[in-house]
Amino acid sequence: MTQRPESKLFYQSRRRRPLLDQARGVYMWDVDGKRYLDGSSGAMVCNIGHSNPHVLECMRRQMDKSSFGYRLHFETEPAEQLAQKLASLAPEGLEKVFFVSGGSEAVESAIKLARQHAVATGDSQRYKVISRYPSYHGCTLGALALTGYAPMTAPFDPMMQSMPKIPAPRAYLDGLDPEDEATGKFYADMLEEAILQEGPETVLAFMVEPVGGASTGALPPPKGYMQRISEICRRYGVLLIHDEVMTGGGRTGAFFAGDHWQVEPDILVLSKGLGAGYAPLGAMIAHERIVEPVLDKGGFIHGYTYAGNPLACAAGLAVIEEIEAHQMMANASSIGAELKAGLQQLMQRHELIGDVRGKGLLLAFELVADRETMAPLPREAGAFDKLVEIAYDKGLIIYSRRTRGGYTGDHFLVCPPMIATANHLDEILTTLDASLTTFTNDLKP
Ligand code: PLP
Repeated sequence: MTQRPESKLFYQSRRRRPLLDQARGVYMWDVDGKRYLDGSSGAMVCNIGHSNPHVLECMRRQMDKSSFGYRLHFETEPAEQLAQKLASLAPEGLEKVFFVSGGSEAVESAIKLARQHAVATGDSQRYKVISRYPSYHGCTLGALALTGYAPMTAPFDPMMQSMPKIPAPRAYLDGLDPEDEATGKFYADMLEEAILQEGPETVLAFMVEPVGGASTGALPPPKGYMQRISEICRRYGVLLIHDEVMTGGGRTGAFFAGDHWQVEPDILVLSKGLGAGYAPLGAMIAHERIVEPVLDKGGFIHGYTYAGNPLACAAGLAVIEEIEAHQMMANASSIGAELKAGLQQLMQRHELIGDVRGKGLLLAFELVADRETMAPLPREAGAFDKLVEIAYDKGLIIYSRRTRGGYTGDHFLVCPPMIATANHLDEILTTLDASLTTFTNDLKP
């Protein structure tokens, strides 16, 4: 193993990781030559795979022209073109694009735009943004106030005002059928109850991940849920914000996950798949009817130095060109269906797998102690960490999160880039199979 000096870097903990050397397609290599299959696209980011030649070439060309143009001094072609492209892909009416550098910034921007819209339209008593538990919307303080994930929020309480939350529709834990419309109605009606309880005149917006990301573990909504949520928001004048930070960019088989249910939010945010690992990039896309009153009343009081960075936008544009040129969204649907079927087969071989779920290539499995009751594994089993480490040692990267209330459940996201082939799926499933066997054997007393 290559000797390395003590690090001056720090992230969440002292744990050190191998030094990355290079990455190509779905594979990554550390400086010792060990190869890893990127089975989670980083953190569901590198949707089109690593080192895509077209994206690199477009970035090089842009760098030769300019790598920064401050928005108060210049508009840039890449930002303008990417905004046009996103507006053409977004649901009808969502035509106004605001660039940022990441998901949390996009979420902050959406909260602030919604709030300024309320003030501009004489609704300034509306300030509450309802979200779900569990959910993840980012780690800045405003985004954390909407995040329903205690391990990340608790250390900062009291911070800003924590916002009201309704349960995420985890039908698989409640013994309900997600294909039954009554299930969708059951969970969606909790939003109406929350709005009535808070006082509709105080509720500004509802923020929802159309397909849950890391917090719920690739949880698709039950039948009818998205449509009913949308109706309820309209009924009470509550803005609907889709957090597509993880789903935006094609991973679920549609450019925006909300498209699967033909629901039109007032505002949507995306990030991870937009820059796809080539540049820190995110965007908020809002309906004209939300943006215009704000611009009329003196402007949107918000903005980041790196917003609309031409290099990042050139990368984003090239990423979308590649997705379209190589039908990657269709691949996400078909190869995603195969991977899901493969995970379901693993479920037959491994008692510990209690659920397999997801859409396209946003997939997850959850480990439980008992499939009948869906009781989680004990915290001491440490599945959250251990299974990821076992797979990592074997050269497969997957992504995990403890789900239920913090320490009482473990799910694992399996989300390779949208360029994955049947051979990559075989490698993922074989390594997972072996990793689950090792983990199960280690559990035995
Ligand atoms: N929203 C969702 C749904 C996410 O999955 C994430 C990140 O995982 C964020 C917001 C925050 O994005 P970022 O980490 O880029 O700030």
